[in-house]
Amino acid sequence: MSQFVLAVDDLVKHFVAKRSAFGRSLATVKAVDGVSFTLRPGETLALVGESGCGKSTVGRLVMRLIEPTAGRIVLDGEDVTALGETAFRPFRRKVQLIFQDPFASLNPRMTVGEILSEPLMLHDIVPARERRRRVGELLQMVGLQPSHAARYPHEFSGGQRQRIVIARALAVEPRIVICDEPVSALDVSIRAQILNLLKELQARLGLAYVFISHDLSVVKHIADRIAVMYLGRIVETGRADEVFATPRHPYTRALLSAIPVASPEARRERRILEGDVPSPLDPPPGCHLHTRCPYAAEICQTQRPALDDDGAGHATACHFWPTLPEQRDILPAEGKIDPRLERLFGAFAGTEA
Ligand code: SF4
Repeated sequence: MSQFVLAVDDLVKHFVAKRSAFGRSLATVKAVDGVSFTLRPGETLALVGESGCGKSTVGRLVMRLIEPTAGRIVLDGEDVTALGETAFRPFRRKVQLIFQDPFASLNPRMTVGEILSEPLMLHDIVPARERRRRVGELLQMVGLQPSHAARYPHEFSGGQRQRIVIARALAVEPRIVICDEPVSALDVSIRAQILNLLKELQARLGLAYVFISHDLSVVKHIADRIAVMYLGRIVETGRADEVFATPRHPYTRALLSAIPVASPEARRERRILEGDVPSPLDPPPGCHLHTRCPYAAEICQTQRPALDDDGAGHATACHFWPTLPEQRDILPAEGKIDPRLERLFGAFAGTEA
């Protein structure tokens, strides 16, 4: 049996943005351009990057909501890349998705009980006579009450709705949950509660998370490993604590230096990248970052840097990363990130949003 619950190998997704009158592709968006990673049971891998970097597309590819252009997706040791809908069905149960907007992903005409019963029925998880009891258990698991099953989604707060979405994902007893910006739409105090809930559920059920986020201050609290994406490619990956403490790629450094810090004593240098993110319709050749990178040299314009592993699992895609000036503690040390957020993460464990 594979030690990985998920392995993604050289995944590519190109979307045709423009076709000729004869159906020929005239322009292609390279949303995902050769992404590889692995995920162990009980582990959280965060995919981070700016909007449009391809991180959500990776999540949808793993869910098989869209088909890859190339590459492999291996779930629990089985290559599922080319499986048809029927053959993929048993695997669909293993991977569930939590979206950013809990309101949009819940049917307003169904009660919470009906919403949670649907996947139980569809995947034949428990006999019909046990469904009600299981719905009650699921609600308690996410910090709600069994009596909430009779209510409709609009009767709940945003945080409670996200709890219902999590309960629905857990109904089919998945191995992996893809959390796509699961707290971005929530108030800061509620964010901490939902993140704590996700951590508790992970410890209890051994779930593996692919946590997709643009918000590094959130990622810092949940990720075991991190993969930073820029224009469809992973530019740096490694253990989260190590990447936060000693980021090597100029893009990761810029992202980290942009995290807002509440503490006035926390002085640090900001690494600003010049210019906007180039269009994924026409990304720069070579290293995609060369049009914005302060260290860019001639080779960067023509040669794509390989994701170079240091032998300890910290990999960087930059021709010059070993010679760049070392930069530590771009993000202030633990406890200084944002006292407000830090407090909330400790205070709200297990309470109801
Ligand atoms: Fe900058 Fe060149 Fe490294 Fe790309 S390869 S990040 S352009 S120094």
